[in-house]
Amino acid sequence: MGLAAYYLTVERLSALLEAGELTAAELMKSLLERTDALDEGLRAFIAYDGEEALRQAEESDRRRKEGKSLGPLDGIPVAIKDFISVRGWPLSCGSRMLEGYVSPYDAWVIDRLRAVGAVLWGRTNLDEFAMGSSTETSAFGPTANPWDRRFVPGGSSGGSACAVAAGLAPLALGTDTGGSVRQPAAFCGIVGLKPTYGRVSRYGVTAFASSLDQVGPFGRSVWDVATLLGAIAGRDPHDSTSVPLPVPDYANALGGQRNWNIGISEQFFAAGLNDEVKSAVRRAIDFFENAGCPIRSVSFPNLDICIGDYYVIATAEAFSNLSRFDGVRYGHRAAGVRDVGELYARSRGEGFGAEVKRRILLGAFVLSGGYHEAYYGRAQRVRTLIRRSFEEIFQSVDFLLTPTAPTVAFPLDDRGHKDPLAMYLSDVYTVPVTLAGLPAISLPCGFSREGLPIGLQLIGTPYRESDLLAAAHFFERSHDFYDRHPTLTSAR
Ligand code: GLN
Repeated sequence: MGLAAYYLTVERLSALLEAGELTAAELMKSLLERTDALDEGLRAFIAYDGEEALRQAEESDRRRKEGKSLGPLDGIPVAIKDFISVRGWPLSCGSRMLEGYVSPYDAWVIDRLRAVGAVLWGRTNLDEFAMGSSTETSAFGPTANPWDRRFVPGGSSGGSACAVAAGLAPLALGTDTGGSVRQPAAFCGIVGLKPTYGRVSRYGVTAFASSLDQVGPFGRSVWDVATLLGAIAGRDPHDSTSVPLPVPDYANALGGQRNWNIGISEQFFAAGLNDEVKSAVRRAIDFFENAGCPIRSVSFPNLDICIGDYYVIATAEAFSNLSRFDGVRYGHRAAGVRDVGELYARSRGEGFGAEVKRRILLGAFVLSGGYHEAYYGRAQRVRTLIRRSFEEIFQSVDFLLTPTAPTVAFPLDDRGHKDPLAMYLSDVYTVPVTLAGLPAISLPCGFSREGLPIGLQLIGTPYRESDLLAAAHFFERSHDFYDRHPTLTSAR
């Protein structure tokens, strides 16, 4: 297939499929070949089954031939973070803990993807149990950044972001609890969206911090992300936190309104923000201003307490959610134990990696008798303050525009980032959004001198993903870095 089909957008691919100039099987074969050639050096995938993907692609071609196409995603491969259940597929969560476990059912989002004919394509790598910002805590080894393999792809959904940026998949699903879709999208130079909490069902998605977790789409263009969001959003009777609101036609609404009021908060541009990131984001602000969008200065006074707040709430919820991995019900079970106490302790000790254990310990501590109110209770009240700060800001503006992350991708095995606190700080601009349950999108807005992508974050009001997508689309259409892709020629 000519013209590097692996870098075409879904918008273009689905037009080619529709016109009969490309078949889903041809597309899948080309991705499979590319993945076979490159993934050893990237490790975007934990595993993939080319034959099964081809079978799904052929079914799509058959449907299309009979005039029964299921829409723009019919025949389009979507890579799946190995944190989301697909019936009959192993589910690892990047951990040894789930060794040998096979999902008995489809997550709701997978069910939705099947309903639109998408090809489920491979299980992507992630930080163990989605805890991390670099995809280095995976028990299956780290994923590389496709722009420069000496750098991390971000995390925890680093495998999904890498697969899309490297042209191994046109689309991917990730999950975002504190930034795990937006930050890897920024580090890999693609578009990633965290929907409003409740917009997408969490049924069949491994629980990390249930009051924060949301599934989010990755793509190489805003249209692609809008289309994938449209497929997975909506009320699911299995998840009582999913909202019964109608799902707009996101892709069709991209040409909407233009004169958005954009808020800028100086707290997001303070010390710690890398200079190149700062100037790229400033240029984006100028772009919107020159396009006629009023830019308002707003204040988000609580930014510096968000990381602390997040790590109390997220670890408390993780502690509770991860108690189900006990060596009895799922996955890894220690051998030769004498009693049930030893079974729990050894199974968990052997199955979980260091970062997961650190979070479980911290979660147990903040919930422990006598401290519960001092830590967890207070963290919940701080969370309310954070939500209110946003509410106040959104009285006067439509969006808040910020950098997605304070730096570009950092080196793999970086000593500074081996320090857990340094790693936690890379989420400083993304965690406030999940704490408040708001939607936000990360989109490319430039490159560093070293050629690493820079991401811009737009944060919006609940359930107004259409507006975020429209503004992102407007920005995308006037910038050519969306046509730039990593040059990847050999596996190493
Ligand atoms: N990096 C953050 C953490 O380690 C966020 C992870 C996520 O969003 N899943 O918790």
